[in-house]
Amino acid sequence: METAEIRRRWLSFFEGTDHTVVPSAPLVYDDPNLLFVNAGMVPFKPYFLGQQSPPWKRATSVQKCVRTLDIEEVGKTTRHGTFFQMNGNFSFGDYFKEGAIRQAWELVTGSQAEGGLGFDPDKVWVTVLGPGLLPHLPDGDEEAAALWREIAGLPDERIQRRGVEDNYWHMGVPGPGGPCSEIYVDRGAEYGPDGGPLVDEERFLEIWNLVFMQEELSAIRSKADFDVTGELPSKNIDTGMGLERVAYLLQGVDNLYEIDEVYPVIERAEQMSGRDYGADHGADVQFRVVADHVRSGLMLMSDGVTPGNEGRGYVLRRLLRRAVRSMRLLGVQDPALTELLPISKDVMKASYPELEADFGRISQIAYAEEEAFRRTLVAGTTILDLAVDKAKERGATTLAGDQAFALHDTYGFPIDLTLEMAAEQGLEVDREGFTTLMTEQRERAKADARAKKSGHASTEVWRDLRDHGPTEFLAYETLTAEASVRGLVVDGARVPALTQGQRGMIVLDRTPFYAESGGQTADEGVIETASGAVLRVRDVQRPVKGLIAHTVEVESGELTEGAGVNAQVDPDWRVQACQAHSGTHVVHAALRQVLGPTALQSGSYNKPGYLRLDFAWNSSLSRETRSEIEEVANLALRQDLPVSAAYMTLPEARAAGALALFGETYDEQVRVVEIGGPWSRELCGGTHVRHSSQVGALTLTGESSVGSGSRRIEALVGMDALRYLARERALVSELSGLVGVRPEQLSDRVGQVLTRLKEAEKEIAAMRQAAVLSDAGALVASAQDVKGVTWLGHDAGPGVGGDDLRRLVTDLRGRLGEERPSVVAAVSAAGDRPVIVIATNAAARERGLKAGQLVKIGAQALGGNGGGKDDLAQGGGQDASQISEALTQIGRALGRA
Ligand code: ATP
Ligand code: MG
Repeated sequence: METAEIRRRWLSFFEGTDHTVVPSAPLVYDDPNLLFVNAGMVPFKPYFLGQQSPPWKRATSVQKCVRTLDIEEVGKTTRHGTFFQMNGNFSFGDYFKEGAIRQAWELVTGSQAEGGLGFDPDKVWVTVLGPGLLPHLPDGDEEAAALWREIAGLPDERIQRRGVEDNYWHMGVPGPGGPCSEIYVDRGAEYGPDGGPLVDEERFLEIWNLVFMQEELSAIRSKADFDVTGELPSKNIDTGMGLERVAYLLQGVDNLYEIDEVYPVIERAEQMSGRDYGADHGADVQFRVVADHVRSGLMLMSDGVTPGNEGRGYVLRRLLRRAVRSMRLLGVQDPALTELLPISKDVMKASYPELEADFGRISQIAYAEEEAFRRTLVAGTTILDLAVDKAKERGATTLAGDQAFALHDTYGFPIDLTLEMAAEQGLEVDREGFTTLMTEQRERAKADARAKKSGHASTEVWRDLRDHGPTEFLAYETLTAEASVRGLVVDGARVPALTQGQRGMIVLDRTPFYAESGGQTADEGVIETASGAVLRVRDVQRPVKGLIAHTVEVESGELTEGAGVNAQVDPDWRVQACQAHSGTHVVHAALRQVLGPTALQSGSYNKPGYLRLDFAWNSSLSRETRSEIEEVANLALRQDLPVSAAYMTLPEARAAGALALFGETYDEQVRVVEIGGPWSRELCGGTHVRHSSQVGALTLTGESSVGSGSRRIEALVGMDALRYLARERALVSELSGLVGVRPEQLSDRVGQVLTRLKEAEKEIAAMRQAAVLSDAGALVASAQDVKGVTWLGHDAGPGVGGDDLRRLVTDLRGRLGEERPSVVAAVSAAGDRPVIVIATNAAARERGLKAGQLVKIGAQALGGNGGGKDDLAQGGGQDASQISEALTQIGRALGRA
């Protein structure tokens, strides 16, 4: 039975029992906890967590999944793919254990003729949670065991009791949890020993897991250690069946790499390598890795992932590179993805038609990555081989961490590749050493960035200051505060005082100033003393954690350590800073609403009136899309959505669906800023307006590419947005005044004017040419005889282009005829730049007079150079005053010839 058919049967079975079919979510989904969707329930999380009420009581889906943890298992076990499809049926407070078990049994053992999967009931085994493992379930899940006996008539020896690891499930955050029950199919004695899944999981293959969410959990400490607060008022069902696993059983093949959606890639790899699949275990693993990774890569790229060095991009890079490398291990040196990717696409497109439409983009990314990897391999392999040889010479069994680091740092050699290639040569790699160096490098980069901002004061000075306590941060509460001066720093060293005209840094015990972070620029304002010192605040940074330093210019007076000051943030500045930061969140939410959840922010910057945001996206946005984003954003402003901030733990924030930036580190307690509740929910330490309408207006001003797979969108907010629009309007009205039409006719009219202009230019060119040529008759008369050669050197006056000069000299050459040798030159200067063209006839060339050589003489006289063929050549110079001299020199050269 084809995989696509099993999928159809699944969906129609559950549709037949009143489940709503929900399409697969993309692999990159709105969940900062997850690199990729890894189970069918992921898109339904908000319903299970009670954050949103489900629109249906029953749902079913076939969800695309990627499990990166399974990457090492690929090809070695028979049942793990990095990409796979999980069939799921879900009940939200509707049917529970009995309904789930009844339907599962019916589908698994129902006859194929009647739409079932047709497994032999005698081959089916199940597991349930065993007794004595969890305090709140002392008997385990005997309820499920009883249902399996009753509904399926399973004998007790085929109902095995199992541990918490496999048969209890929760989300790792406070919320629902419960026991689960797994369904296995016995593949037969030839695949392993008797004894059920407890004994052998390769012979007894898990196809389906039924999760019974029955309890409310709090304080999750680990998989098996958590508190139960009570029974869930409404119990849920979440199940997951491995589509590929069922396919390999029903297709009578030995593993999931041999099913119809995967095997064709192996076949092509066999042809390319000239080797047979099934002949050698080591090679078979490589074949399977190739087929699995090519498919996973294809599906990831289809969902917008592009190769990179971090996070999702790195997983994709690793998959594609491992596929290429496995092909090399099979002896194929030529580009492999160009052959394999189209095959994978062809077998997957039955279920995912978008693959065909998008294949141009996908294949371009994949082939470029293979190319890049091939270059890396050439450079890195040589270096690695040398390092390995040296290590072996020394009798070492490990490759030093710094070698692996150098390979990574200089040649972009991925560490796992170094590990693999070293292992092939019998060496280990000092991973710890490598990791230490990587961490050091990262720290250095961060310290560099900090040093730049904190005026290169050594961290010691700052740490010293902080030892007297952190700066109290008042930016969320107030714009002015009384404070005292903790320390003054100039050029990285403590000073007792700052005086008029000096620039330096001030640390206060408390401050209302916002220090630059999270993309928001620092506040501006003044710091004053009662004695009349006035200091302008130009920048505010956190040189070390907990300490805030203000960069100031002393406008008047003097400031000493210990002095009492009044610190005032410029209120206008702050209002606009809030507008810009809230505007950034609004644009982010609007982007995701219009483009989908994959358009995740990767960086941002905002300052009063202006914001920009970088996000993951592959193509430029059309004008319509930009307008739509602008419209969604401005609608959100008009709706006057409330903006609020709350503190919570990171897991709580994640459970609430708050967007966090990947690769950022967050404290225990995080601040979550919401605009309109769940519409925009981000981890953020910035300052914000209280209501979205206070942003005023928002207008997109630009959209551009910033590296592969990343776009930048820029916008103006508040008064700056209005001023921008006003400027544009003024421009339009000025233009319509100039052109003399109403604004809405402007673009038509300008179009017409431009067309007319082009036509006029063409006419002028034609007339000029005619004028140039019309002189030709008279010019012929001015030809001279130089030792039997007809020589015609003509200064055409300024502004005649190279094309016209060429036409002129060939015309003149024609008029002079072929009886006598003749040489024609014409020169013109456009501005200061003279151009010279020379033509010779056949008789002249027979005499050895070559245009290419003659033009050099002329061009050199003009202060330049030239060249060309024997019959026609062109040159240029920079000194238009030498035109007649140039012609004279050519004439003389003819005389010498
Ligand atoms: P295993 O122990 O075999 O790795 P699992 O316990 O991780 O499986 P679940 O998380 O319960 O599996 O996922 C539900 C179903 O999804 C499994 O019953 C199986 O059929 C399928 N499945 C899980 N991981 C994979 C994978 N890497 N490749 C293919 N199918 C998988
Ligand atoms: Mg697993």
